[in-house]
Amino acid sequence: MNTSVPTPVPPTVYLVGAGPGDPELLTLKAVRVLRAATVILVDDLVDAQLLGSVFDPAATPPRIVQVGKRGGCPSTPQHFICKLLVREALAGERVVRLKGGDPLVFGRAGEELAALRAAGVPVEVVNGITSGLAAANALGTGWTDRQAGAQGVLLVTGHAQPGSKGPDWDAIAAVAASGFTLVVYMGVQRAPQIVAALRHHLPGDLPAAAVQHASTPHQRSTLATLDTLLTALARDAIDSPAVLVIGRVLETSQAVALATQASRAAPAMPAIATA
Ligand code: SAH
Repeated sequence: MNTSVPTPVPPTVYLVGAGPGDPELLTLKAVRVLRAATVILVDDLVDAQLLGSVFDPAATPPRIVQVGKRGGCPSTPQHFICKLLVREALAGERVVRLKGGDPLVFGRAGEELAALRAAGVPVEVVNGITSGLAAANALGTGWTDRQAGAQGVLLVTGHAQPGSKGPDWDAIAAVAASGFTLVVYMGVQRAPQIVAALRHHLPGDLPAAAVQHASTPHQRSTLATLDTLLTALARDAIDSPAVLVIGRVLETSQAVALATQASRAAPAMPAIATA
């Protein structure tokens, strides 16, 4: 007779995309798992108001653990977040890891998936709308617009991992030159270096834009060219979190009109360091 007691399987951990900021862009699945959670580990890209919109004020709130970087403090080390996820799940908590945008787009989901799987914890990703696509909506044009001759879109990071050489801008520029729209995440702080590197291969009059706080009431944008982007960023005080966009798709008149309107209308918001 087998007398061994089977180890209980811990509850599934959900890596959930919060989308770019507008609470209405949360998926129904995201809302469902958030409401069922007992612990939520939150990134600083996720606004407190967004979480507030999910919960019934009369219900017992879940425990919220902030794991992002705030006010210039260093970010919570990734290995610590992974350990915490595993520990909470093994303790029987219903854990949600809530991330800005989509967890699978520059969201460090890989490390967390690996740690949870290694510990035998079931894990599921709930997609969210990535900020690079919300930025397309903000500028009134699609990154893959056929009429503008776009063949596709390249989502790239402007941020070098510690110890790595960083993005290969020569290769990236070559792809952009062949008709791909370039969407750069975490690129505002390094915009001078990025623009300089891209200018080796791309013309100075290529349209370039930036969108900050896409989809939120604080959305701001600016439209320029590669040669004027840095001036435009400074003039319109665009800071993190923002995506840079480079490509012919920005030539549509609607994009120009919306960008001008948005950068005039939106109030400035204190910058959050995310890059
Ligand atoms: N997983 C996220 C990206 C995380 S990396 C996603 O899918 O959107 C962090 C970077 O995302 C920021 O530096 C910025 O480039 C971008 N970002 C996040 N939210 C944004 C927003 N609301 N508007 C513009 N850019 C945003």
